[in-house]
Amino acid sequence: MSNRVAIREGILREDAQGGALLGNKCLSCGQVFFPKANFCVGCFSKDMKEEVLSRHGKLYSYTLSHLPASRLQPPFYVGFVDLPEGVRLFAPLKEIKNRPFQIGMEMEVVIEELWQENDNQVIGYKLMPV
Ligand SMILES: [Zn+2]
Repeated sequence: MSNRVAIREGILREDAQGGALLGNKCLSCGQVFFPKANFCVGCFSKDMKEEVLSRHGKLYSYTLSHLPASRLQPPFYVGFVDLPEGVRLFAPLKEIKNRPFQIGMEMEVVIEELWQENDNQVIGYKLMPV
């Protein structure tokens, strides 16, 4: 039997609703970070609290990569998505038939298995059009 392990500890949670990314928020000035920051780079406060991030955001930019990556077969799309919290995510994009990527379009965070490693299913996130 294989275990599901996050690509980076504490970065996400899985639940019946499909899961969510976990960042943290500065309790002093309200800035939100992903991945979690040890302290706020805005005001240097160390008063941080875990924050469950929105599952939807807007596509800021994207590109089609033709270069090989360690776990991705080219060509593959990667892009940036801006969440309402002010966080800009960077991740591989999932294509949906008849929904070409367009800057500004609504995107969703998808938590899913990225690859198998030994006995583990490595879980990470991708972004796809809503
Ligand atoms: Zn702060």
